[in-house]
Amino acid sequence: MVSRALRPIALMVIAAAITVGMSAPLTANNSADASGDGFDVGNWSDPDDKDHRIRWNPCQPAVTFAVNAKLAGGTASARDAAVADTRAAFKRVSNRTGIPFSFAGRTAEIPTNGKDQSWSDRQKSAEIVVAWVNQSRAKFRTNLMSDGDGGYPSGVGGWMMRAWTNSDGNWQAAIGRGFVVLNAAHNSTYKAGFGSGVTRGALLLHEIGHVVGLGHVGSTAEIMYPTMLDRQYSRYKTGDRAGLSRVGKSLGCISGASDAWPQI
Ligand SMILES: [Zn+2]
Repeated sequence: MVSRALRPIALMVIAAAITVGMSAPLTANNSADASGDGFDVGNWSDPDDKDHRIRWNPCQPAVTFAVNAKLAGGTASARDAAVADTRAAFKRVSNRTGIPFSFAGRTAEIPTNGKDQSWSDRQKSAEIVVAWVNQSRAKFRTNLMSDGDGGYPSGVGGWMMRAWTNSDGNWQAAIGRGFVVLNAAHNSTYKAGFGSGVTRGALLLHEIGHVVGLGHVGSTAEIMYPTMLDRQYSRYKTGDRAGLSRVGKSLGCISGASDAWPQI
């Protein structure tokens, strides 16, 4: 007899840091069945040993995102451009996954864990908050980005999933909150837009890839490679697209998700 959850359980958060560089040690591909050479998606195994793809419910009316671009640039037009890039990146992820992302406007929120409260329970302005941060200023700092060997990374993206049992006793699970934090100290490294070079567009595509459940891959061609590279393009490649198609609408609706995750 398996004990059933009476209410949603917070399961986990994944947060993956990225830095900019020309080369970096490869991370091992996840060898789970769900993943291939060019993509990495995750499964959660429920107490009845049934696997669930780690993903958003693609059938909710909208998955909202808000942007804190206060530190994204030195002028209003530079900040506007950062918001425009963020919206364009979400649009690409919508196109690939069928998840209906919707812009909820600008926010002053910075995703961060509280003393007794997860970032995911604190988030107020949208289901996903994208914020530029400054780790040397208390007011603009996040504890979701840690200081590694090479200093703070350029960005971190993550999600929170909950699992619950429906009235038929079957387990369900869905991501319901996400965040992206981007290091404003690295702004000058990233060109605006989605062209060639090391771009903010590619950085956003990478971090939003994490928000929808993608992990890192070993192939340098893919956006989900763990280091930002100087490329001729800023778009999802074959492996990335294969991963996105495996966390999206083609997998169907997740029943009960709207009860487990109040919409923002
Ligand atoms: Zn990453």
